[in-house]
Amino acid sequence: MSKQRITVIPGDGIGPDIIDSALKVLDKAGCDFEYDFAKAGLAALEETGELLPQETLDLIEKNKVTLKGPLTTPVGGGFTSINVSLRKKFQLYANVRPVLSFKGTKARYDNIDIITVRENTEGMYSGAGQVMNEERTQAEAKSLITRDGAKRIVEFAFDLARRENRKKVTAVHKANILKTTSGLFLEVAREVAKENSDIQFEEMIVDACCMNLVMYPERFDVIVTTNLFGDIVSDLCAGLVGGLGMAPGANIGAGAAIFEAVHGSAPDIAGKNIANPSSVILASIQMLEYLGMQDKAEKIRKALTEVIDSGDRTTRDLGGTGSTTDFTQSILDRL
Ligand code: NAD
Repeated sequence: MSKQRITVIPGDGIGPDIIDSALKVLDKAGCDFEYDFAKAGLAALEETGELLPQETLDLIEKNKVTLKGPLTTPVGGGFTSINVSLRKKFQLYANVRPVLSFKGTKARYDNIDIITVRENTEGMYSGAGQVMNEERTQAEAKSLITRDGAKRIVEFAFDLARRENRKKVTAVHKANILKTTSGLFLEVAREVAKENSDIQFEEMIVDACCMNLVMYPERFDVIVTTNLFGDIVSDLCAGLVGGLGMAPGANIGAGAAIFEAVHGSAPDIAGKNIANPSSVILASIQMLEYLGMQDKAEKIRKALTEVIDSGDRTTRDLGGTGSTTDFTQSILDRL
């Protein structure tokens, strides 16, 4: 049987270091993948004149599964976000962001296990809008919610909940004020919930959701919501478990899936060998689960958990003194 090929985009800033760490972990766990390396972001711009070269797009399409480091989108110059472009190009409609407490972090809670399912292609992130006059006194943006888009993301959340033996799906909205867009999303969520009555359904207004997440995070299980709310709520959830260094994300569509750390390229610590590779390793675990390799996923999660909980060679953001290389070696020693 031919080996599973994975497209790997090392990315910018701390990207190459943390991706290198994740690949070493995958290899040591015996995953036996073949990697096709591709460029995107600043690294690609400098070499090819393009942020997202065609060759990279072809590899993402060909292998269907991509592990991606953070990318720097240059400020100004009219560049659109590479991540938004990738989501649109491959219709990666579901952004799945799990957060889980690790004892060894400096997080305020130790009992968090929440998955946010964010709609990735619609809502306020459609990019459509304009400044309405030359004096720049007014601007407008278009938010588009479709019945099909809402249905597929809520169904995705229920399917995920069932697959992962979860009890509850919470639809987060602002239908009391945004009656058209959020109203349609909620209407569809209720319809889908009726067809999935084996799983508990609850609806919550986004502002109340933020307060409840901080006060009673243990009450949440799977959250499903629209693009902008999902972006904000999932970062709030990352904060509950110790910050972006612990938060992975999967962007899943019908034909392709891209797994990444939620954080950016961290230019302030790039090249210093001190970045925490946990989020991209957690993204690799999501990738293994997506590929049906649950045993390898569990093996890596166990080793990572042991390292973080014991503090053995962990990085500074986790309170340790280890480098990225030391942290990686600590995981490899346990595999
Ligand atoms: P950032 O997430 O890169 O950094 C925020 C802070 O968190 C920094 O102090 C950084 O040092 C720290 N940090 C981030 N990841 C860390 C890690 N693994 N270990 C230890 N500390 C870590 O956010 P930013 O500085 O606002 O953005 C920098 C660049 O990244 C920008 O160009 C932005 O566009 C890009 N970005 C890319 C993605 C992506 O590709 N998915 C996501 C967000 C931001």
